[in-house]
Amino acid sequence: MTQGFFTSTLFGKNKTELKKLEPANWWVDMKVPTLQLMAYDNLISETQVTLDYPGVEIRQLTKVNNPNYLFIDLFIKPETHPGNVSISFHQGKKLIKQVDFPLLERPNNSSNRPGFNASDAIYLIMPDRFANGNPANDDQPGMLEKANRKAPYGRHGGDLQGISEHLDYIQKMGFTAIWLNPVQENNQPRSSYHGYAITDYYKVDARLGSNEDFKQLVDKCNQKGIKMIMDMVFNHCGHFHWWMDDLPTEDWLNQFPEFTRSNYRLSTVSDPYASQDDLAKTTQGWFDTSMPDLNLCQPLLLNYLIQNSIWWIEYAGLSGIRMDTYPYPDKDGMAIWAQRIMQEYPQFNMVGEAWISQTSKLAYWQKDFPNRDGYNSHLPSLMDFPMYEAMKAAFNEKTTWDKGLLRLYDVLADDHLYPDPMNMVVFPENHDAGRLFHFVGKNLKKLKMVLAFAATTRGILQLYYGSELLMDGDGLKSHADIRKDFPGGWPGDKTNAFTKEGRTKQQNEVVEFMTRLLNYRKNSEVIHTGKLIHFIPEDELYVYFRYTDEEAVMVILNNSKAENKKVNTKRFNEIMRYFTQGTNIITGEKITDLSFIKSSAKSATIIELNKNQDD
Ligand code: CA
Repeated sequence: MTQGFFTSTLFGKNKTELKKLEPANWWVDMKVPTLQLMAYDNLISETQVTLDYPGVEIRQLTKVNNPNYLFIDLFIKPETHPGNVSISFHQGKKLIKQVDFPLLERPNNSSNRPGFNASDAIYLIMPDRFANGNPANDDQPGMLEKANRKAPYGRHGGDLQGISEHLDYIQKMGFTAIWLNPVQENNQPRSSYHGYAITDYYKVDARLGSNEDFKQLVDKCNQKGIKMIMDMVFNHCGHFHWWMDDLPTEDWLNQFPEFTRSNYRLSTVSDPYASQDDLAKTTQGWFDTSMPDLNLCQPLLLNYLIQNSIWWIEYAGLSGIRMDTYPYPDKDGMAIWAQRIMQEYPQFNMVGEAWISQTSKLAYWQKDFPNRDGYNSHLPSLMDFPMYEAMKAAFNEKTTWDKGLLRLYDVLADDHLYPDPMNMVVFPENHDAGRLFHFVGKNLKKLKMVLAFAATTRGILQLYYGSELLMDGDGLKSHADIRKDFPGGWPGDKTNAFTKEGRTKQQNEVVEFMTRLLNYRKNSEVIHTGKLIHFIPEDELYVYFRYTDEEAVMVILNNSKAENKKVNTKRFNEIMRYFTQGTNIITGEKITDLSFIKSSAKSATIIELNKNQDD
């Protein structure tokens, strides 16, 4: 086994003779000058470690119960020159191992890299299911699971090259960011396609491509104005992770006397009355038999994972992180992680998946929420699950005191709880639950209303590959249902939905709608930064505005069955009195009289308001 994927490509001959040295390189002039290397080899802890490099010192060596591991704390002084640090491992006078450890120069402005924000529309892709750009990498010698496109839970062969080849498709629709389900190695015997059972934190799964391929994909995305958000998983690893055969410490994993599954009750983490027993099961129970639960109270492990995040940001040039199962690991460890990343990259952004459907419970997890127990997650962004639930139901119900359109209104009315509502990620669909098209009863009009709402309300927008193709599936029987292959992504596919000709009339209608909506959103400052004002839904109409001092956009969601409604705008005078005309951003139609606005049954109307005729 070599760990030299990086050194061997950039520095010619790979001198790494250790089984593992992680990370395999670092950078000079990081804000935090310390770094902890994990060295792994037979009885490595019985060696003496030395290095001789100007500006770099060994500050501490940490031995653990397992003599095959040694943790080496380095101090890298500011203004140290980039170069190869030669690290030697001796026994007495005998040189046992010698390793080249590259210290690289940081890319320009690396620490000020911007993260994703409310100006972004994120396209979520499950890499195994999007496009197979390189059928030659589908099967890898030595990897446990072989490709089998017929198996719903099998690996289908999609890869990074496939994504790279279809960036124009994504860009044209108006997306400005991509979130990929985890790309790190999942060398698991079964169901390894989804990526959430990582077996090597420092390596892209060879069936998706190489680390270098990932870096190149990020570069290509950036050139097209698309940010890359990397999915990370700290709660658990795969049970075929390389360290499972020889764990560094006894407390590396959370383990009960017998297999104990998480109770998945995330409220226990913030509940002032929670029992220790319930809390332990939530945070230390395993997600699955194949997903050992990592113990982030173990400081060496926590540090390992923190450095891993920084390594990927710096190596690949990321614009964001999506953290899986956020409240499940030790919450203090996660807060240290978030704080450390944001210290290194103050403009960066990270979104946590906390699958919690009540704002009162979810707000606990956003940075600077004044929690009574003193907890501060330091996590800037959250997936907006309360909004997700509301969007699923809102258009299928009659609007009453608290149902139908009132659901959207009520979720937003809870925004006083969030320290930063604009940093909530609004998503009508993701890889874990039923398809949007399913939830709207396969009704195209309702689907458009959801999309229009999600794209114009406050926050960051995230959609899921295949929404635009009306991919269907409730996800209840099988997750494979909601993770189908993108038609045209594989050589020999009968249809190619990447092209207009390969899509049905309905699919094209949605692609066109989305293209107009997202390209409007992309350039609309008022959506990116504007305030929100909304009016209590009445008569199956929900009207809201996004506005700044200069401009405003009006959104009318009409969930009634009555055709050709005329919406009297007198009630909205507090905003509308400043405007004399408008433009429908989907149809391009000019509206010269704003006193009554036409609205057809089950529709979303988005009107950019203008102050005078000449605008
Ligand atoms: Ca492939």
